[in-house]
Amino acid sequence: MRRILLVAIVALMALSAAGCLGGTPADISWATPTGSAVSGTEQEIQQLFDAYTQALVTRDRNAFLSLIDAGNPDFLARQQQFFDYTENVPFDRYSVKLNSLSEEGDGSVTAKTSEAFTLKGSFAALPDAERAGYRLVRGDNGWKIAGDATLQALGKARDARLWDLGKVEVTIGEHAIVLYLAAGKATAVQARVFADRAYPQLTEALPGVQMPLVPVWVFSSKEQIDQAYPGQWQDWVGGASHQLGYDEEQGGEIILDAGLFNEIGSKNPEYNRKMIAHELTHVALFSRTGDKTPSFLVEGLADYVAGLEATPYLAGKLRSGEAVSPTLRDLYQPSGFNVLISDEAATLAYEIADTAVAYLEQEYGNEKVVSLLREFKRRESDNQPQDQLVDEAFRSILDVGADEFENGWRLYVLAG
Ligand SMILES: [Zn+2]
Repeated sequence: MRRILLVAIVALMALSAAGCLGGTPADISWATPTGSAVSGTEQEIQQLFDAYTQALVTRDRNAFLSLIDAGNPDFLARQQQFFDYTENVPFDRYSVKLNSLSEEGDGSVTAKTSEAFTLKGSFAALPDAERAGYRLVRGDNGWKIAGDATLQALGKARDARLWDLGKVEVTIGEHAIVLYLAAGKATAVQARVFADRAYPQLTEALPGVQMPLVPVWVFSSKEQIDQAYPGQWQDWVGGASHQLGYDEEQGGEIILDAGLFNEIGSKNPEYNRKMIAHELTHVALFSRTGDKTPSFLVEGLADYVAGLEATPYLAGKLRSGEAVSPTLRDLYQPSGFNVLISDEAATLAYEIADTAVAYLEQEYGNEKVVSLLREFKRRESDNQPQDQLVDEAFRSILDVGADEFENGWRLYVLAG
């Protein structure tokens, strides 16, 4: 059970943070509006970026390097390294889209771009784009990329990718594509096995859910992850999931800290298996949940797929008539898990969520759970108070109101 984990507090926070701290899709409102005039220069530079990404995807090293200006040896060396460190990465598409150009005093231009890629066999649609900037120069043979101008163009350096930290290796399972650095191999193999084991449990709990290969990025340490996802992962430990866009086809990914994965795994091997199953469920739920989906449903389902544990803490409190905080009703709120401040509140919240989903599954069945998810997603833009919305959704899908559901759940917990 969760509370006796050696690293209980951090581990709890890992699960509570997981899926809640995923980055929100990028703001691309600054991008050049579609339909705006494209000058000859813009067209040439877009063609340069197209050739660059084409060479990357088709692994044509000479073509790739021929597009880099030789006048900046540091940048050239970094581009060589980028190409070589991504040798094993099965890019399906890599997109660098030109958004705007500005001329510099020295005759070069700075390009603002939005960038995204997909992996073969994984989610098909490009994820929400990241912004970047390049310095470009025009030589006798046309335009070349002469430097990374992200910092100058956007005021912040680009976030690190796994391949900025070393050569990326890849191991592919039935349901996950795991990318890692050499030192993370053992973690990567375990993560692949755990994801494949979790998938059937996921599709059993949520009939109709299907996912292509889910990317799993294995970083070596929390420090590395902070470089890749700055400011986003304060509280999580071990692993977390990250939403890549709002569409099902954009999907999500799982991020792992190999150092902690090994440390926790040596003390409690089950923790990692459950953590991967939990995060995989979050990836499946990203596109199936909306602004009105109760948090107990999301976290409870992720734990349900991972395998439920006993909930003596909650049962004891209910039996003794002690006040329970948070309450199930608090966890109707989509942000219900983001406001838990104590270890005790987090433990209780998970026990409430887990038992509520177990009760749902047992009393109403998995098809109703899927219908309930769909109903909350459908009501994403409804404006009534959340308690009322949940009551209405329960009535329309389960034929009981929230009060009756809660009474049934309470009896279920007490009987457990
Ligand atoms: Zn979670």
